[in-house]
Amino acid sequence: MKRHLLLTPGPTQVPPELCEVLGRPIIHHRTPEFQAILKEVTEGLQFVYQTKNDIYLLASSGTGAMEAAVANLLSAGDKALVAECGKFGERWTELCETFGVKTKVIKAKWGHVPNPQDVKKALEEDKSIKAVFITHSETSTGVNTDVKAMAEVVRKTDAVLAVDAVSSLGVIDLKTDEWGVDVVVSGCHKGFMLPPGLAFISVNAKAFKLIEKSKTPRYYFDLRKSKEAWADTDTPFTSAINLIIALNESIKIFKTKGLQNQFDHFEKLAKFTREAVKNLGLTIYPDASCISNVLTAVNVPSGIDGNKLVKQMRDKYGISIAGGQGELKGKIIRIAHMGCITKENIEEALSCLEKILSEMGYKVPAKA
Ligand SMILES: *Cc1c(COP(=O)(O)O)cnc(C)c1O
Repeated sequence: MKRHLLLTPGPTQVPPELCEVLGRPIIHHRTPEFQAILKEVTEGLQFVYQTKNDIYLLASSGTGAMEAAVANLLSAGDKALVAECGKFGERWTELCETFGVKTKVIKAKWGHVPNPQDVKKALEEDKSIKAVFITHSETSTGVNTDVKAMAEVVRKTDAVLAVDAVSSLGVIDLKTDEWGVDVVVSGCHKGFMLPPGLAFISVNAKAFKLIEKSKTPRYYFDLRKSKEAWADTDTPFTSAINLIIALNESIKIFKTKGLQNQFDHFEKLAKFTREAVKNLGLTIYPDASCISNVLTAVNVPSGIDGNKLVKQMRDKYGISIAGGQGELKGKIIRIAHMGCITKENIEEALSCLEKILSEMGYKVPAKA
């Protein structure tokens, strides 16, 4: 079998112990056995989310939960605010526009993050804005939005705050209840180290009031159905059974290690990567003030084709890192730190990077 070392910011590598769980014989989802697992998984997610809010599981990629957030919170003609700084922030805007929501956009320069004071001003100027959408870890550029500061602004208003934590959950701190975040979406194929196919959404009472009022047509992603089913420890449709059983095991790893220890581990890994990259004479893409520990985005040196670099690492060595998206296509490379990626994996990827960069004509500085 061809080797694949995945250092991409989603999907991430699946550890062998979770592969084993995924491959177990399937059980039926309308059984007490599965209900017990659903309950345990939901409580486990509440632990990682740091919340007491309801969390619903959706069989979809992360974007499905984002769509569920927009479709359930808002109706056509409602007003929303998106504070965006990259490709995934743009996705919130595109989703809002798809559902006919009147969308005001606060755009930060890529590599930077939106300013909570700008959100405050926009909410003061237009009190009819019903929801604010932000991205915790903007995976396209490698920055973190200050969710705590954003929540401090939004929680004083009637608007709800919805956070895309698809790449950040379980990797960097997100105190859903303490900070007062109304809706948080995430998925299983980044920090939780599983194959894609399962998304989650947490919803508090303030957000649920909007959900009950929304006139947006919805069927599969109708969170009113999820809530109703959950009252009987059930889901409205067939669950992603094996993914949920494996998620339960993934969460146990978080519980055993401890959340803060996990965050510390990823911080160390990110710092190590940033240092090692600098030693290759390369520069970090995002602004240092908002740099993320979820992934490291690195500028491709001038004269080097970033797309070719990524392709050669994958085709010649079986090591997958990500290139740039949107306006950064070919200009940056991105190395993930989430899940079960080790320091040794990063060292291997960087020595491969060094080799290919040299082959492509880049002069690596002499080691000090
Ligand atoms: C991966 C990711 C998503 C979801 O993407 P899917 O391909 O739908 O899983 C959303 N937001 C961010 C920040 C992400 O990193």
